[in-house]
Amino acid sequence: MAQEQRRLVLHQAQVGPMANFVYLIGDPVTRKAAVVDPAWDVDKIIKWAERYGMEIEHILITHYHPDHLGGSMMGMTVEGTARMLERVKAKVYVNKEEAEGTRKVAGLSDSDLVKMDAGDTLKVGNLTITFLHTPGHTPGSQCFLVEGNLVSGDTLFVNSCGRVDLPGSDPEAMYYSLNRTLRSLPDTTVVYPGHAYSPEPSTTIGAQKRTNMYLRFPNLDEFLDAMGHSRR
Ligand SMILES: [Zn+2]
Repeated sequence: MAQEQRRLVLHQAQVGPMANFVYLIGDPVTRKAAVVDPAWDVDKIIKWAERYGMEIEHILITHYHPDHLGGSMMGMTVEGTARMLERVKAKVYVNKEEAEGTRKVAGLSDSDLVKMDAGDTLKVGNLTITFLHTPGHTPGSQCFLVEGNLVSGDTLFVNSCGRVDLPGSDPEAMYYSLNRTLRSLPDTTVVYPGHAYSPEPSTTIGAQKRTNMYLRFPNLDEFLDAMGHSRR
């Protein structure tokens, strides 16, 4: 999956044994880029950026699980952001709710991190990336919106959504992230998920409104029932 338009470079690559997607988001004029969720094989990701003539200046993290960030958690250790920082000069953009967790899991120092809030933006060359806070899978899950494209991490997958049965997950927050924050985006928004869990590598918000059951529950209670978390 590759897009090189007049205003935007957006590339998707699959890495590691958990079908993770890494993204390169860049400005086609200045060739400056942000990498999203660089884990599993940092050398390969750097070579990939070089092949497209892009210079990685920023690291964006959708959430602090090691399959996206790198590092160690729940007995799992993955190469990732810490190694990337040995190779490129960059800051790591995380949601403020997850800054402390990110630091611990990846073994980073506080000065490596930029703590982002809902609606904050980042300039990459001439591009502007907007950060959406979408808690549910984790407290600080975030999605990145750029030129009508949404990099959705483990919040929204093609026809499914991220798990909400993990430590720190919140099914009610997931309901609102999906059905308010993401559902309010234009139908034409192209969605690039955090894992290749479907034969389709991307989708649109409009298509997901029609085919993704997690965007089709009429209310929170029915969503929670389906998730096995009904409220008393
Ligand atoms: Zn994941």
